[in-house]
Amino acid sequence: MTRIHPQTDCIDPHLSAHDVRGPLEAVAEQYAVAVTDDVMATINPTDPYDPVARQYIPSVEELNTTPRELEDPIGDDAHSPEVLNSAGAKRLRGIVHRYPDRVLLKPVHVCAVYCRFCFRREMVGPGKSEALSAEELEAALDYIRAAPKVWEVIVTGGDPFVLSPRRIKNLMDALNAIGHVKVVRFHTRVPVADPSRVTDELVAALASEKAVYVVLHCNHENELTDKVGTATQKFLRAGIPLLSQSVLLKGVNDSAAALENLFRRLVEMRIKPYYLHHPDMARGTSHFRLPVSIGRGLMKKLLGRLSGIALPRYVLDIPGGFGKVPLEEEYYDGETVTDWQGAAHNYPDE
Ligand SMILES: *Cc1c(COP(=O)(O)O)cnc(C)c1O
Ligand code: SF4
Repeated sequence: MTRIHPQTDCIDPHLSAHDVRGPLEAVAEQYAVAVTDDVMATINPTDPYDPVARQYIPSVEELNTTPRELEDPIGDDAHSPEVLNSAGAKRLRGIVHRYPDRVLLKPVHVCAVYCRFCFRREMVGPGKSEALSAEELEAALDYIRAAPKVWEVIVTGGDPFVLSPRRIKNLMDALNAIGHVKVVRFHTRVPVADPSRVTDELVAALASEKAVYVVLHCNHENELTDKVGTATQKFLRAGIPLLSQSVLLKGVNDSAAALENLFRRLVEMRIKPYYLHHPDMARGTSHFRLPVSIGRGLMKKLLGRLSGIALPRYVLDIPGGFGKVPLEEEYYDGETVTDWQGAAHNYPDE
């Protein structure tokens, strides 16, 4: 793993390393920084606008926060169940339950890499209670055991595939034993960012009678190297379908050509593009954001130009924890966004 040293690594073309030493250290103090050697190998060091570098190399712009930005932009905390103990009420760690039929299970809060635009950037990283303890994981599983309406468990984090195959196997054993859980979905960036972790042992640990899906996070075709292809093949050969999620990011993939190339490449690799996320209101990420009107314009250009199976749904996770909605006229008129339960929320498009 390459650790970026903020004192020396600077790709901002306008600033020398000396100029940014102080500010970049401040970024690294606030938000985790890490990138793998495999990712570094996909970066063109002479290109100051490299779309992969922009996703991982810290920037002084992260020190800018805007009034609309939130510590917990998608309201994970508000949807963690409350539990009572001797000390009073507290949130159950590791579970986010927003929709009746599915829960998020977050066994670990570290990742193989740290994305500069991460929506959970204030919760992930070394030192931020890196994983649930055995007792906490058992309490989270007890919650699922006692919730018969939970049909699907979405294992996320952090990145669940940084766990050892042995721990993933233990987790799968526990989920396999819960009759009402029919689907287990893993959300991960590991196959793209750290493909060597996709070992036969990891894939074997996912074997189940239940439907197991893996959803990759990938934002640019340059991330999809041959090595990533070899890793993703392993899941497919084991009968595990692959989907992808991308984030629409200024300076990374905010052109019809970049999105088209990304989605085509994914489908060629037998990965179905599932969601294109509008960027979240995470703190220090305004340099990645762009208006919904731009995103809609890009999606419109892709309609007809791209096969239906290559077109993801463009969605917004409504700030505050009201869930995801497709960014179509019916749910968003440019000022008000309507959640799945019919409630309206103010969301200026800027
Ligand atoms: C995104 C999310 C899900 C999954 O939503 P899908 O639309 O089914 O992919 C589930 N629970 C929470 C809390 C989420 O944020
Ligand atoms: S891999 Fe996911 S959780 Fe981890 S830093 Fe990137 S966006 Fe955040």
